[in-house]
Amino acid sequence: MPHADTVVYCIGPDSPHAFDIVPLQPRNGALDAPCPICRGHGQWNTQIDLVSMRCMRAICDTCFGAGWIETGDDLIDLPDIILTPEGHPKWITRQVSSQRLAEQGPSAAPLIAS
Ligand SMILES: [Zn+2]
Repeated sequence: MPHADTVVYCIGPDSPHAFDIVPLQPRNGALDAPCPICRGHGQWNTQIDLVSMRCMRAICDTCFGAGWIETGDDLIDLPDIILTPEGHPKWITRQVSSQRLAEQGPSAAPLIAS
């Protein structure tokens, strides 16, 4: 049975319970600092049941879920999917500068990296 009266909705990372049971992300060796938005978690609860701890989460679009950000000029590894010549989807890693990501947003990453 769902416990409707125990479900908390979080508007964003500043909401109470936004980081309940959300683990801190381990540092990816290349990145410099914990993300100021998600405070190193990479994601937060948008909805959590305080009894069952079932939750729905949002991925941080500042650090793309890594929990860490690049503060210098190093390129950032960004996961993406391409179509192989055989027509199969394949995970790849693109390298994008943090400055261009900030200017154009993550949805533009495949375009600005090529
Ligand atoms: Zn973040």
